[in-house]
Amino acid sequence: MATVQQIAQSLQESSRSVGSGEFSGHAPIELDRLSHDYGSRLALDGLSFDVRPAEIFGLLGPNGSGKTTLFRILSTLMVPTGGQAHIAGFDVATEPNRVRQQTGIVFQATSLDVKLTVAENLMHQGHLYGLRGAQLQTRAKDVLARVGLADRARDLVETLSGGQKRRVELAKGLIHSPSVLLLDEPSTGLDPGARIDLWNYLRILRDEQGVTVLVTTHLMEEAEHCDRLAILNAGKLVALGSPTELKAEIGGDIVQFETRSPEDAKTLAAGITQRFAVQPSVVGNAVRVEREHGHRFLTEVVEAFPGAIESVSVAKPSLEDVFIQRTGHRFWLEKNEEKS
Ligand code: ADP
Repeated sequence: MATVQQIAQSLQESSRSVGSGEFSGHAPIELDRLSHDYGSRLALDGLSFDVRPAEIFGLLGPNGSGKTTLFRILSTLMVPTGGQAHIAGFDVATEPNRVRQQTGIVFQATSLDVKLTVAENLMHQGHLYGLRGAQLQTRAKDVLARVGLADRARDLVETLSGGQKRRVELAKGLIHSPSVLLLDEPSTGLDPGARIDLWNYLRILRDEQGVTVLVTTHLMEEAEHCDRLAILNAGKLVALGSPTELKAEIGGDIVQFETRSPEDAKTLAAGITQRFAVQPSVVGNAVRVEREHGHRFLTEVVEAFPGAIESVSVAKPSLEDVFIQRTGHRFWLEKNEEKS
């Protein structure tokens, strides 16, 4: 496994010019039966999908679903044990230097030197990618303007807010004009205002620079901002599409009946199936039904099973519903729920 220092060194040694932002006909990111096992534990299980040019693509999954493993493979920190991944046509396992020139990476943990100025941090990063002199100065100025920090170049990083620091990280990731930007859980630690800012900058990058952005996240709200999503569960791809498409696959409303116990929920589900000829799913204490005209159905069920139901709800499908439909369990497992 390469360390960040080794990557930096190999970048310095690489004589190739920095990323041009062109894809030469390849998808920005292509996964072909990509797998990874840590000894006996299979963390990625045969993932195959493409990320399209200039889209904001989300990798959504609960803890342990394989997001970090995939992120590390795409950032060339780790070689997969099976299958292939390409960035801009280059194999992440066999052409890591080429991949790194095309890729900007923003890790979750901060990589800034807080005792240096914003501009100095960018200069160091630029040197790692072989940028020098006037070219680097211009580039640093440009990326700082792009993330809205042109007036903070001479300030020490330690004087910036959390959101501003994340934007400097973004600027660092962009210094060598990558065509693909990888961000690991970018909203972590940001207040709501800074999150909105960050997403605005990502959209500008997509729209004005044609950069392809891949974001890992375990937050449904964040996933909603993505153009398309891959939803992962236990290392497998369980859904792929835009948030709107994925939610539209669930017909009508989601009607949910809470009972007192998982046993009561199973009894109620069996009763609903018998009486209404639908197939509800049982998730913990709850019985869930996808149904057109949810309010009408809800009333009929409550009247048909007096005393069996503690509370009811009806809602439009969410990404959580997509996850439940595809996996049979909640995104965040509760203590009394077993993974199916
Ligand atoms: P996520 O980022 O979605 O939380 P990870 O990629 O970190 O998921 O983990 C996927 C699976 O691989 C989990 O079951 C996790 O326990 C396992 N795993 C992750 N890193 C290691 C490691 N270094 N050694 C062994 N198992 C690991």
